[in-house]
Amino acid sequence: MESAGRDRLLAEHIRARPHLRDIFQFYEKIEEIWNTSHPDDLLALVDLRDASLRERLSRGVPLVDRPAFARLALPQTGQQFRKIMTVMRQGGGEREQYANRIATFMRNGRKSEGEVIAELLSREDGHFDAISETMEVPRPLLVYLLKMSLRISFERLHETLIAFLRTLEWEYTHCPVCGAPPVIGQAVSNDRRRYYCFFCSFHWESSPMAGCPSCGETDSELFNLLYKHPNEHQGILACETCRTYLKMVDQRAGPDLLNPDIQEVLGLHLDMAAGELGLRPLGQPLVQAEIIRRPGIDDYRP
Ligand SMILES: [Zn+2]
Ligand SMILES: [Zn+2]
Repeated sequence: MESAGRDRLLAEHIRARPHLRDIFQFYEKIEEIWNTSHPDDLLALVDLRDASLRERLSRGVPLVDRPAFARLALPQTGQQFRKIMTVMRQGGGEREQYANRIATFMRNGRKSEGEVIAELLSREDGHFDAISETMEVPRPLLVYLLKMSLRISFERLHETLIAFLRTLEWEYTHCPVCGAPPVIGQAVSNDRRRYYCFFCSFHWESSPMAGCPSCGETDSELFNLLYKHPNEHQGILACETCRTYLKMVDQRAGPDLLNPDIQEVLGLHLDMAAGELGLRPLGQPLVQAEIIRRPGIDDYRP
């Protein structure tokens, strides 16, 4: 698609921004759950005494060892998951249906929610896909519910490791803690870019590559910032060569840290537009390249 057509399509999406109140209310309820819950200790996932740790990090291997999740029971995470399910049910309609399917699956497994979550995280992605099919719950929704249930536990882990993480030289576009791709990039200065992890919400800075963060393309005809609203300071860094994109926020002159959850909702129109252009989010395999499906966003139509 030529660039005028792309711009028009993107502009249409922007104009058609829907009413977001429902989504933010759901998020508010999850925040209330976080405020009244306790984190699980995830430190067992990271072995700081491991002599090869620095060497592995320098090769881009993230800190958290996923198979180690199998050793955890995650009781607090399980409890938060149950509370989020209650909020889902209260929402009625499609959300309630999904919550009921998940509850049925959990009951049949005879394990606690926390144990099921730990096992899901310890296994390979193919297993996750199979579970999502068995449950008849879309994978992106399932991922969203897991990450919201794990959020304060990951935040605790980040706090515990902050001294270590501060000294880390990390020039990759995936998360140094959990290995997930960024949900959003933030221009903090002309030569610094901050990334926010899609899954564990960690943020890290690196110097932006000259070209596409995924394939290195530097031709500005193929790799460019597609849309930038004068007031919103949001856009997508899109690459025609590898067909990936990264949502970007320009805050060189604005406030410092972003709330990536809120920013994700505010940038939903950009995800929709990028999806229609046939682009997939940076770092996500083709089969998973769906917009993250959130309760309350399911019925979103531009
Ligand atoms: Zn992460
Ligand atoms: Zn590329």
